[in-house]
Amino acid sequence: MDEKTKESKFAHITRAHPCFNEKMHDKVGRVHLPLAPRCNIYCNFCTRDINKCEQRPGVASRIMDVDQAVDHVEKVTEDMPISVVGVAGPGDALANEETFEFFKKIHEKFPDLIKCMSTNGLLLKDKAEELARLNISTITVTVNAIDPEIGKEIYSHVVYKDQLYKGEEGFKILSKNQLDGIEKISNLGVIVKVNSVLIPGLNDKHIVDIAREVKKRGASLMNIIPLIPLNKMKDYPKPDCAQISEVRDAVEEIIPVFRACTQCRADAYGIPGKHGEDKHLDMTPASHY
Ligand code: SF4
Ligand code: SF4
Ligand code: SF4
Repeated sequence: MDEKTKESKFAHITRAHPCFNEKMHDKVGRVHLPLAPRCNIYCNFCTRDINKCEQRPGVASRIMDVDQAVDHVEKVTEDMPISVVGVAGPGDALANEETFEFFKKIHEKFPDLIKCMSTNGLLLKDKAEELARLNISTITVTVNAIDPEIGKEIYSHVVYKDQLYKGEEGFKILSKNQLDGIEKISNLGVIVKVNSVLIPGLNDKHIVDIAREVKKRGASLMNIIPLIPLNKMKDYPKPDCAQISEVRDAVEEIIPVFRACTQCRADAYGIPGKHGEDKHLDMTPASHY
C-alpha cells in the first residue's frame, strides 16, 4: 500500500478509535472480549490472572466463549457509544482459535464496528492474510526489544509450531516474526500500532532503535507503556513520569506517539477513563485515575 493511501486510511479508521486517537480517547468506547486465555510466549514481567480487582492488561474476571462474547457486544453496543471491538487477551489473541471465530461472527453482525486486537506478534507473520480477510482494521503488536542481548532478558521462552525455544534462540524467532508480521500486515492495509514496555536500565535507551525499525516495517504509531514490575521482573524499578516523557519525546522524533494510554484490562468496556462509563465485567467502573 502506498504512503498516501495508508495515510488516508489511518485518518479514516482512527477518527473513531480511542487507542489510536488521543482526541477521541475519552469520547468513544471500546469493548474487549476476554476469549483468548492461552499464550505462546513467556514474558518475564507477566502474571496472567483471572480476578476482579486489578486494572492492567492480562487480567480478566472470566473467560467468555465465542457466543457469549457476541452476546456481550450486542448488549454493550445498545447501552453505550462503542466504536471498537477488540481482543486483548488475557493471553495472546492469535494463539486462540476463538479469536478468529469471534471476528468472523462479529463482522457478519456488526460490519461497521472497527475490529481490533493486540498480540505479542509471534504468529503475526503466519496469520496476517487471515486477519486481513477477517476485516481487522487495527492491530497492536508489543515489541519490547529488537536486540537479542536485551530481548533474552525480557522473554524466557517461546512456543512456536509446537517447539519450545528458550532464551536468545526463542527471542530471535519472536523478533523476526514480529517485524516480518508488521511489514506483511501493514502492506495488507491494516493499521499497526507498536506498544513497547519501558523497562528502566534494560530497554530505555533501546526503544528508539525499536521505533526506527518498526517505522521502516510500516507501523504508524507507538505507545510507550511503563513496566508494572511483577513476576521475574518484580525487582526492576517502575519508570517515573520524567523517564517515560524522555523516551516518548525521543521516539516522537521518529514516529507519532500515543500518550493517553493507561493500560486497560482484557475485559474492559465503555469509554476509556470516563468516570462511571469505563467498566469491566464485574461491572465496577475501572477508572484510570
Ligand atoms: Fe503475558 Fe501477554 Fe507476554 Fe503472553 S504475551 S506472557 S499474556 S504479557
Ligand atoms: Fe485498544 Fe488494544 Fe483494545 Fe485495540 S485491542 S481496542 S488497541 S486496547
Ligand atoms: Fe486503549 Fe485502554 Fe490504553 Fe486507552 S487506556 S489507549 S483504551 S489500552
